[in-house]
Amino acid sequence: MNKTEKLYYTDPFMYECSAQVVECTADGDKFKVITDRSCFFPCGGGQPSDYGDISGARVCDVREKDGVLYHITDKALEVGSQVHMHVDIERRKDHCAQHTGEHMISGIAKSLYGAVNVGFHMAEDYSTLDFDIMLTDEQIRKLESETNKRLRENRRIYTEMVDADVLHSLELRKKTDGIENRADEFRIVYIDGVDSCTCCGSHCNYTGEVGVIKLTAWQKYKSGMRIWFLCGERALSDYQEKQTITDTLAKRFSTKQEEVLALAIKQGDELASTKHALKQKITELCELRADTLLQSAKVQNGVSVITIIDENADMFEHKTLAEKLVQKGKTLCLLMSHSENAVSYTVASSEGVSPSANELCPAVNAALGAKGGGRVGFAQGKAPKTSKSQLEQAAEQMHTYILRVIK
Ligand SMILES: [Zn+2]
Repeated sequence: MNKTEKLYYTDPFMYECSAQVVECTADGDKFKVITDRSCFFPCGGGQPSDYGDISGARVCDVREKDGVLYHITDKALEVGSQVHMHVDIERRKDHCAQHTGEHMISGIAKSLYGAVNVGFHMAEDYSTLDFDIMLTDEQIRKLESETNKRLRENRRIYTEMVDADVLHSLELRKKTDGIENRADEFRIVYIDGVDSCTCCGSHCNYTGEVGVIKLTAWQKYKSGMRIWFLCGERALSDYQEKQTITDTLAKRFSTKQEEVLALAIKQGDELASTKHALKQKITELCELRADTLLQSAKVQNGVSVITIIDENADMFEHKTLAEKLVQKGKTLCLLMSHSENAVSYTVASSEGVSPSANELCPAVNAALGAKGGGRVGFAQGKAPKTSKSQLEQAAEQMHTYILRVIK
């Protein structure tokens, strides 16, 4: 099979061309189409492929093997026929912006910090690149500012095809071996005064076309770090989404955008302190409630048996009440909470009581249709929602059962 003539190498801004179909084979519910020439960039070097159409057949992927391009289409095309190829221009331009952005960040990180790009991935809505060293937050901020500053200088981007000997003699930021599996020819992408490296991807004409580059997240990765970044339209969309968030929060807090952060932190702190105070009050209340419950509890074989249903009690409240009950006497308690969405239960037993909490668990699970378990003196579980009357009936049965089996 002859290699496909790659028109994008000589003219990366060619979005349509004519070609002849060389081969077309079925591939599941799709077709693999080979043409004599193509303006479609295949996926490779961390970049997804172009989309578009070939004479009405939709192209949803383009792959390359041994210099041959395989266009994955939704329709068969007649071998030998002349076809017209159209690339999805918006998608191509977006890929160009992301890929040029990656070269800009990498070239500047190398010159500022000696950081070496060791990985690149362009997804449908974000891109990542990996460095061999970890940078500080301050270094990242400087890298972002410097990259955008150089971007605004609108530097020219151009490519050059060279053979292995020439490549060997060149000083480049990065050299890739066997680009496109063609060890006899290499493509170098230059960003004037900023970067140079071997690359088979699509790029802008001038850095100004990228618009803006935003580094959105970073974290330690392997022995270095991974950075998430957005370029051009993607960065603008991200800004718009974040502005919607801050606008909504500002309205919610009835404040100005610039005051949202301080107010959210203040309210978060207040909420934490209110929760702490509430827990203290619940603990005090449980202390008093435990006394009341024990006074009216049914005592069997010297063990106070308590079975109750509360509306909307949380797990903390029942845990605290159960602990008080088992501390204050020889007790076995089954505390259930009924809410609109679910039923929860807490079982606790004083030391030496038989059955212990976890021994009683299987019977409680069966009676309530619940899942749960725990240790000797304490267990908790949850069941799907049920009616109040059904839960009362199950509680009554459990109470009778406990009185019968308690020792
Ligand atoms: Zn590249």
